[in-house]
Amino acid sequence: KTVCVTGASGFIASWLVKLLLQRGYTVRASVRDPSDQKKTDHLLALDGAKERLRLFKANLLEEGSFDSVVDGCEGVFHTASPFFITPSDPQAELIEPALNGTLNVLGSCAKNPTVKRVVLTSSVAAVAYNGRPRTSDVIIDETWFSDPESCKENKLWYQLSKTLAEDAAWKFAKENGIDMVAINPAMVIGPLLQPTLNTSSAAILNLINGSQTYPNASFGWINVKDVANAHIQAYEIPSANGRYCLVERVAHYSEVVNILHKLYPSFQLPEKSADDKPFMPTYQVSREKAKTLGIDFISLEEGLKETVESLTEKKFFG
Ligand code: NDP
Repeated sequence: KTVCVTGASGFIASWLVKLLLQRGYTVRASVRDPSDQKKTDHLLALDGAKERLRLFKANLLEEGSFDSVVDGCEGVFHTASPFFITPSDPQAELIEPALNGTLNVLGSCAKNPTVKRVVLTSSVAAVAYNGRPRTSDVIIDETWFSDPESCKENKLWYQLSKTLAEDAAWKFAKENGIDMVAINPAMVIGPLLQPTLNTSSAAILNLINGSQTYPNASFGWINVKDVANAHIQAYEIPSANGRYCLVERVAHYSEVVNILHKLYPSFQLPEKSADDKPFMPTYQVSREKAKTLGIDFISLEEGLKETVESLTEKKFFG
């Protein structure tokens, strides 16, 4: 049972590697720079890593870079993709690695007859941004697809990168007979295994780190352990297919702050929204399809607690 994980040092991928090793898989894991101990030490320390984890160097921007990583694998988990919000050059920093990188990885899969299924880490970013209203009575599900034009108009470059990448992946998979399943998580929280700060964990750190305001935004939230488990379930369950949105609950940042206040009454938390506009409405995201993967949906409260504890333990905070 050999599988591959791209971008293995990341927040979600580190949990994925941990759970795969726990379930007995042999894991071929790609990182950009295997000599960077900040990216690899935590992976090499995982249970089973000595016997069943092998690291490879690969870059999304280099064609053929993933050929040797994918070689001999039955399952490929493609998680690598840049996630940050304010690029100076969206095309070079976000869109090219997301889009060309995904096609590179799938190209390696197409050349490799051992590959039985690819699980793509997409995002709610590729689902919910299509100009349709998102209000409390709206239930978003897997039939939604974000609209590139709407993303461009609103300068939502990360959302654009994930939308273009998932769309191209489905086309490529269809044309090349690849069995692919996509996982579309919302904002991911929970314990960090890696020593570096990723974007979604930073969103929580910003709230507890003395900020005066919270963003006027509503997002879905999901625990990283549920996300990693969903990837493996999507690989192991033969009938899994299409996309799976992963959202425990949609909450406005004001609600996230309220939960943090209840958990940590002594914390200095932001008291007002970053703008004077009405609060962005919350919406709903269907959990029906994700339930068929047997996801736990760890609560937002629990996820926030785990995030704060982990940020403290890793000395980002406190
Ligand atoms: P991280 O920033 O922790 O991980 C991103 C990973 O992508 C890193 O391993 C990074 O490698 C890799 N990467 C970036 N650029 C390149 C490149 N040019 N070549 C090779 N690898 C590259 O983020 P997350 O774990 O949060 O994100 C992982 C995936 O999950 C992404 O596809 C993201 O879009 C998706 N996602 C994340 C959500 C979240 O809230 N966290 C929500 C929904 C989806 P390196 O370590 O070398 O920098």
